[in-house]
Amino acid sequence: MSAVDDLVPALVALRRDIHAHPELGYREHRTAALIAAQLRAIGVEVHEGIGGTGVVGVLHHGTSPRTIGLRADMDALPIEEQNDHAWRSTMPGAFHGCGHDGHVAMLLGAAQHLARTREFDGTIHFIFQPAEEGLGGARAMVRDGLFTRFPCDRVFALHNWPDLPMGTIATRPGSIMGAADKFEIVVTGRGGHAAIPHDTPDAILAAAQLATQLNTVVSRRIAPTASAVLSITRINGGHTHNVLPASVVLGGTIRTFDPAVQDVIEDAVRGIAAGVALSFDVTVEVDYDRYYPATINHADAAAEAMAAAATVGEAQLAPEPAFTSEDFSFMLQACPGAYVWLGQARAESPSMPLHNPRYDFNDAVLPLGIRLHVALAERHLAKA
Ligand SMILES: [Zn+2]
Ligand SMILES: [Zn+2]
Repeated sequence: MSAVDDLVPALVALRRDIHAHPELGYREHRTAALIAAQLRAIGVEVHEGIGGTGVVGVLHHGTSPRTIGLRADMDALPIEEQNDHAWRSTMPGAFHGCGHDGHVAMLLGAAQHLARTREFDGTIHFIFQPAEEGLGGARAMVRDGLFTRFPCDRVFALHNWPDLPMGTIATRPGSIMGAADKFEIVVTGRGGHAAIPHDTPDAILAAAQLATQLNTVVSRRIAPTASAVLSITRINGGHTHNVLPASVVLGGTIRTFDPAVQDVIEDAVRGIAAGVALSFDVTVEVDYDRYYPATINHADAAAEAMAAAATVGEAQLAPEPAFTSEDFSFMLQACPGAYVWLGQARAESPSMPLHNPRYDFNDAVLPLGIRLHVALAERHLAKA
């Protein structure tokens, strides 16, 4: 197995430096500049400003036309960090709560190793994307010509995974992460005196009916063998005891794996809204946004990832997908590939979940992540 251990101390320092200087989506200027400088220092060709702050490093070796893309995301979350380690966030309201600092360090480590050993024949594209957390940086890079400028036979992404023990690597063919939709529903009546309800359409009662009826969509409209989540996460309306408010706003999220199920749910949400509007004499406006599609691994690429994983760690076939979402889905719509989970939990203590204000990337998994990137590249671009 490739020796990467000598690279690790500097990469741990780099990871912690990025952690201390988190940047939100599309504002990853310091992080992107740091990545570009590190890539140039090892002789990798650098392209900046792709899809906003995205960076692509290109490493050619040999004569094969084969190509591979390896992706890391760079952005932080708008959360206040609650850890007190030396490398805690120095930026108020920004925090690497999803481990993207670790993803950057692992991919830079792989680039360093592959640039010095060159045990491959073909072209590697190191893809550093902005704005994974809800802002669609992967889509921005694809629209900016990522795969036409840097064609890839395959593209892979690793995500640290606190639910799996350190040392394990898991993926699956087909769906691995959910589609994320969000909705905002505005119920509008007229507003009036609470003591004269017969003259005032009740937007609060209509909103309460909506909340109840929307919660029947998954149980009554979706087959028990399919899977979906609908959660109402917000109701805002009213301000005092003797006024029926003129409007109430409901918001929530829907997670699915199958576009046909997603269609049924969107139709049901709109239909229920129209029915409630009619029965309560209010107007109901639905803003329904399918913001991230499901992340669907290509079977061949998932098999390739499993084979590579087995050479560096404990490879597991993930039994089921996760309901969280990922904008790597946009890259997989444009290029065959697979999304892979890298176990992050220490045996002695459970890891904090992703997006928790006390989460921190586990630096002990850096070498395994580097080896997995390297194995993916060296196997896909194997010398003849
Ligand atoms: Zn995240
Ligand atoms: Zn993430």
